[in-house]
Amino acid sequence: MSLRVIVFLLAACNVFCQDLPGGAAHWWEQEPLRILHLVTSMGQINFMPARELVRKKAALYFNTEHLEVMNLPAGLDDEGWFFRSPLAARMNPDYLGEYLHEAKKHGGLRIIVYFDVTWFNKQFAAKHPEWLQIREDGTPLDGIFSTGTALCINSPYREWLFQVVRDLCAYPIDGIFFDGPIFYPETCFCRYCREKFKTQYGLPLPSKKERRGKAFADLMKFQAESLADALRDTRRIIKGVNPEIAFYMNGGVRGANWATARFNRVLVAEQDLLGSEGGFLNGDLK
Ligand SMILES: [Zn+2]
Repeated sequence: MSLRVIVFLLAACNVFCQDLPGGAAHWWEQEPLRILHLVTSMGQINFMPARELVRKKAALYFNTEHLEVMNLPAGLDDEGWFFRSPLAARMNPDYLGEYLHEAKKHGGLRIIVYFDVTWFNKQFAAKHPEWLQIREDGTPLDGIFSTGTALCINSPYREWLFQVVRDLCAYPIDGIFFDGPIFYPETCFCRYCREKFKTQYGLPLPSKKERRGKAFADLMKFQAESLADALRDTRRIIKGVNPEIAFYMNGGVRGANWATARFNRVLVAEQDLLGSEGGFLNGDLK
């Protein structure tokens, strides 16, 4: 089994601490974060007892991590969750609860839960066809990482997503990291996007093939603001539980971001940190 480690390149966003009494700093602002992301979702989430894994990570001087608690068998579904949620289709061991208990005991490793909110497998998508991202020709998006599809944040999928976030926030976690949400080069032309655009702009959704002019600028603004809406609503739920749960997403790259609409200058306002995935080290690094 090949596992990957992701090195996160992070820049703390310039948000001052107005929401804490006395201007105290949030935990993620107090020292440089050394974030480990061991990709276990392609293997087995609970491959090692929580106590042992926490001890090993702390001994390597990581002070923060992205912890994976959901299997990604060719994309996310609701079968392989290792935490408690009424939306889980199958009851697996509560590894998140056990892991957090051990992390609090051993050196205070900060636990940010990794949540892939974009890549879903075909079986899950088949149960929710109205949530799929749709191409301009009306066909549902497929072929994401060659096995899966992506769901649209403007569809009722968002309510499902918010419930999973509430379930994660019932645990004493330190943060939630979203991988996504994003659009794709050919998307999204689902009925929810078309209706939302029509309401906001009074026009049909413009083509994503003609990448110039005001119509395309409007489309980019619409898509970026749709992602921002989702982040804002998610963050409101998280901060309503605990303002010390950090929230951020896998940000845009230093290059063209029109395909995904992942524009950091728009999206940073809804996040506690700005980060972009990079530096994959492949092989079994457990
Ligand atoms: Zn859509």
